[in-house]
Amino acid sequence: MSMELSSEDIFNAVLAFLWVVYVWETYLSYRQRELYRSSVGKIPVELDGVLEEETFEKARLYNLDRSVFGFWSGLYSQITTSLILVFGGIPFLWRISGSLIAQFGLDAEYEITQSMVFLVGSVLYSTIDGLPWSIYSTFVIEELHGFNKQTLGFFFKDMVKKLVVSLALALPIIAALLYIIKIGGDYFFVYVWMFTLFISLSLITVYADYIAPLFDKFTPLPDGDLKSQIESLAAGIDFPLKKLFVVEGSKRSSHSNAYFYGFFKNKRIVLFDTLLEDFAPMNKESEEAKPEVPSPEGEKLGDKEKKKIGCNNNEILAVLGHELGHWKLSHNLKNLVIGQFNTFFCFMVFGLLMNRSELYEAFGFTSQPTLIGLLIIFQFIFSPYNELLSFCMTVLSRKFEFEADRFAKSLGRAAPLRSALVKLNKDNLGFPISDWLYSTWHYSHPPLIERMKALEKEE
Ligand SMILES: [Zn+2]
Repeated sequence: MSMELSSEDIFNAVLAFLWVVYVWETYLSYRQRELYRSSVGKIPVELDGVLEEETFEKARLYNLDRSVFGFWSGLYSQITTSLILVFGGIPFLWRISGSLIAQFGLDAEYEITQSMVFLVGSVLYSTIDGLPWSIYSTFVIEELHGFNKQTLGFFFKDMVKKLVVSLALALPIIAALLYIIKIGGDYFFVYVWMFTLFISLSLITVYADYIAPLFDKFTPLPDGDLKSQIESLAAGIDFPLKKLFVVEGSKRSSHSNAYFYGFFKNKRIVLFDTLLEDFAPMNKESEEAKPEVPSPEGEKLGDKEKKKIGCNNNEILAVLGHELGHWKLSHNLKNLVIGQFNTFFCFMVFGLLMNRSELYEAFGFTSQPTLIGLLIIFQFIFSPYNELLSFCMTVLSRKFEFEADRFAKSLGRAAPLRSALVKLNKDNLGFPISDWLYSTWHYSHPPLIERMKALEKEE
């Protein structure tokens, strides 16, 4: 079969597909947004008596605000991306990078150096481009709904730190990757796959001890009831728990979470302080005289009953029962294996396409730099495949969530897990109603009510 696509055809197809995805996702968000708008006071019967009208209304307004924000930021980025493609922003940045290294006497032979400059340039561009949106999201929307705990100073320091750390990691890795592709011969994708496997395993290893602590404070969970209960839960299912940390997530936001990580016999559990009733600083603050914060509806919070966030010990154990279910059922391992197959497959196809000049010409290039080939093929040519894969992974993730819930249930923790799910949903202002099409496409976790129903079954 010969491919007779001209470079114009390729470009137009890529641009058209970008818009098809955009229109589809905008349509889905519209459906969900209309649900936020139309469900004033319509608490689902399943949550009658569990979810107060006030919380429901707060969640509705919060999610509506987020959705409207998502519409505008999505529209902006869709338009800028299209303009960048149409007006040749990518070859423009590539030329600038070339003339920058030329200042130091390096010519086009120094492709990897030019690629590094190009990467720094594009990361800086996208950071600055996204900055107003990210500021608005954190300091207007999250702030208005009582989630934001960051100061502007913390926000900027955090952003610069993230930028420096991610560039320091990404630049040498990508430089090595480009080098391997250059010298790897016909079967370069085998070496590339081994290299990316090695890199991802090393990153997992060093992330916890050396990278995550740069951003957040991890403290060991102090001795006490909770700690000994967690340890016996872990021991009961042979989970090799080595360390138990509380992370100060409350410095960023009052959204809550828990997770575990680590290899083989060296597992750690991390609990967000906002998940723990007894640790969340917000609970402690509210006991003192706290300056009153106006809620979105304009009324004052805080002078009513003290609103505690987080879960009690039994609920935390149920949440961990769920998390450990992910481990017991090898969900992470399964995801890793799928990821490895995907990497191998994609680089193999990349190998078949990387020398086709029409792909580069489609995006305004007369030369064929490897980095640009990666960008064009992985981001644009593969985008239908990427969309399909990401949908399948979302479906798989929901299946895993049900399985982990079932595991917690098999430990006899269905009831506290149900109440924990409701509490977390309240604390995070999750909205309990979702459009079926929207949630099918986007939700990595099943909707609250479906999880509650599944936990109730055969009990
Ligand atoms: Zn889960």
